Amino acid sequence: MIKAVDVHKHFGSNHVLKGISLEVAAGEVLCVIGPSGSGKSTFLRCVNQLETIDDGAVWVDGELIGYEERDGRLHQLSDARIARQRRPIGMVFQRFNLFPHMTALENVVEGPIRVLRESRDTARTRALELLERVGLADKAGAYPSTLSGGQQQRVAIARALAMRPRLMLFDEPTSALDPELVGDVLAVMRDLAASGMTMVVVTHELGFAKEVANQVVFMDEGRVIETGTPDQVLVNPAHERTKTFLSAVL
Ligand code: ADP
Ligand code: MG
Repeated sequence: MIKAVDVHKHFGSNHVLKGISLEVAAGEVLCVIGPSGSGKSTFLRCVNQLETIDDGAVWVDGELIGYEERDGRLHQLSDARIARQRRPIGMVFQRFNLFPHMTALENVVEGPIRVLRESRDTARTRALELLERVGLADKAGAYPSTLSGGQQQRVAIARALAMRPRLMLFDEPTSALDPELVGDVLAVMRDLAASGMTMVVVTHELGFAKEVANQVVFMDEGRVIETGTPDQVLVNPAHERTKTFLSAVL
């Protein structure tokens, strides 16, 4: 579902991604861990084309992102084509980014109606199902400001799912939450993984990673230091830097 080959990214003179290569199979959950500033968010943003990459390539579902081959050369895609490539990729951020002037239900139906051109009835029925799936059937009419952080994050997940994604990217989805609200969000993500969704999750929740991930990647300073099963990376890490990071997080 994802294949990244030697991805590089600079911000000015700051070389943030120094050749990231990884693969995620369909239905697999990849958890990405690593210290702050190691390039985890930037990598996710490259996959979702919120950032352009400077070198290397990323394929999503077999399709090269951002470029097409014509006359034996690579040409940058138009904004419309990029928007179409981004559509099947759902993203959930640390901050929930809900529209504050819309109810939970309105937040969830907005994309399907405007972008997918679903009828209001279809979108509404499906949104209610999704809100039920994330445990918020009774909050359809609530405005974000009246919801807890954990509830807002679950609305954000429902909103992403409403776009019928084939791939979900999560960037520290529980980092901004009070500890007692983390469990409900992780439970929704666990269900989603069990349903077969392909997911990339940047997280410091090592318990979640151990339990749900098929693959764990440890990143540091723009590089993949270590990749393997949760047991290999989280329990028996091969690299000193991974050990140091894990002992600091635990
Ligand atoms: P992580 O998510 O692992 O904490 P980030 O991907 O957010 O790391 O950041 C990696 C590096 O890239 C940091 O040094 C950060 O300051 C820099 N960076 C991230 N986004 C930008 C940006 N839009 N402009 C300039 N520098 C950025
Ligand atoms: Mg980050």
